[in-house]
Amino acid sequence: MSKTSIIWFRKGLRLHDNPALLEAARGADHLCPIFILDPWFLKPDKIGVNRIQFLLESLADLDASFRARGSRLLVLRGQPQEVLPRLFKDWGATHLCFESDTEPYAKTRDAAVRQAAEEAGVEVHSPVSHTLYDPELLLSRSGGKPPLTMQSFTKLVTAVGPPPEPAADPPGKLPPLAPKAAKEAARDGGAAVAVPLLADLGYPPAGTTPFKGGETAALARMADYLSDKAWVCAFEKPKGNPAAFVRPATTVLSPYLKFGCLSPRLFHAKLLQIYAEVSGKHTQPPVSLRGQLLWREFFTLCGYAVPNFNRMEGNPLCKQIPWVDDPERLRAWEESQTGYPWIDAIMAQLRQQGWMHHLARHSVACFLTRGDLWCSWEAGQAVFDKYLVDGDWSVNAANWQWLSASAFFSQYFRVYSPITFGKQYDKNGDYIRHFLPVLKDMPAKYIYEPWTAPLSVQQEAGCVVGEHYPEPIVEHQAAMKENMARMKAAYAAAKEGGGAATPAPPSSGS
Ligand code: FAD
Repeated sequence: MSKTSIIWFRKGLRLHDNPALLEAARGADHLCPIFILDPWFLKPDKIGVNRIQFLLESLADLDASFRARGSRLLVLRGQPQEVLPRLFKDWGATHLCFESDTEPYAKTRDAAVRQAAEEAGVEVHSPVSHTLYDPELLLSRSGGKPPLTMQSFTKLVTAVGPPPEPAADPPGKLPPLAPKAAKEAARDGGAAVAVPLLADLGYPPAGTTPFKGGETAALARMADYLSDKAWVCAFEKPKGNPAAFVRPATTVLSPYLKFGCLSPRLFHAKLLQIYAEVSGKHTQPPVSLRGQLLWREFFTLCGYAVPNFNRMEGNPLCKQIPWVDDPERLRAWEESQTGYPWIDAIMAQLRQQGWMHHLARHSVACFLTRGDLWCSWEAGQAVFDKYLVDGDWSVNAANWQWLSASAFFSQYFRVYSPITFGKQYDKNGDYIRHFLPVLKDMPAKYIYEPWTAPLSVQQEAGCVVGEHYPEPIVEHQAAMKENMARMKAAYAAAKEGGGAATPAPPSSGS
């Protein structure tokens, strides 16, 4: 019997280390590579232009790689649960292969697709390659429940052993499209299945992120950062300068890992190779570069195993804290109008580039929640999800719970100062000047606290506080004190009511 495979891309937008693709191509007479633009993910009010631009660039890159192997990518539109059953029939598919996905929406979608495939007599293969390990394997090795600290997670993966090696590259020539797929691809000069423009999807014509999507860019970026082996071996988070924006202090591989333009297993294998090559010491998890991949793994496992992981209610890990719903405060934070230049510059970088350093994310997440504004972490999570190019369902939810001291981390009395924290790294305020041009001429002495500058200095700098730039939205010391008392009460109430258990904090921050 002839084999006609559909390889369905969702994340995993790469040819390297792609076991689903290898399985689809193995012995196939026809191979149909598809991506389905699902309206679920195309909501301009919820998912910003930068992430969609990155996605479209990644699809164009993937298409080019298929074309170089005698095939092409077909970009279809609609709900996968409706599109795929039609393709099974029209294209005469015998096999459907896709990378397994652990997010709740994906699990429901994939279950429906599996059922439709079964009804159509189509064989389904769905290997794990978005993470280092199969989450089911990790769960079964930890008694059905995810570990709740990085220490215990690291112990678990050490006991499980190394993750699988990256899969081999696909052959240089791939099987052709099924005849009916080729016919569909040729219709209207191919326009119906081409990678669309942003404007076709209801987005502005171009985004503003400097990070270009695609496997080619991912591999080049990884090679660039890993070429400095001494840097790799000395990598130690949370050390590193969050204000470095010309060459960020960390790899900025997160958008590529999010979309699967880069395989975590390849990245991991390269790190092990460098550690082995360089004699002498290298840093260790949780602070090493390999440790960063383990954070991703840990949080993805939590997202998979903990119910309602992106919410406070119904989430057994999450402290129930009486956050206030304050749209004005939230809007000021989102739009860089808090009057704290360090916070506002970070949020400007988020909106402009779709990426910020981890400690910059710490600063603004702490400020929005337990530090200053007492807004819900869920609201902050939604804003991050809208703008981050690397926005990831599990990792975002986990880090917001961490920063708001709702789960994983309980030292709520450790608060980031919106004034002194950034100053440690960038005394002159170059980062602020770049992302908040309204403050570009403010003397360094006042750049973190422009409201303390004499009026004549503000006038000379062309930035009068209250006119060109806002007054501070809250007085930091007073807000922090009040919020700490609220946290103390919420923790006490949780203890009394037997609320969400907060495990002991790991020895090092995420
Ligand atoms: P590197 O330091 O170079 O690390 C390499 C890779 O390890 C990253 O690309 C990422 O995949 C992974 N990684 C690093 N730190 C973490 C971490 N703390 N948790 C999980 N994985 C990690 N990261 C996302 O990818 N998507 C998100 O939506 C996201 N939301 C966040 C929200 C908040 C409030 C905070 C504090 C952090 C968030 N992070 C998120 C985690 C982290 O900030 C980014 O992964 C990291 O800054 C990306 O930069 P990088 O690729 O240069 O990281």
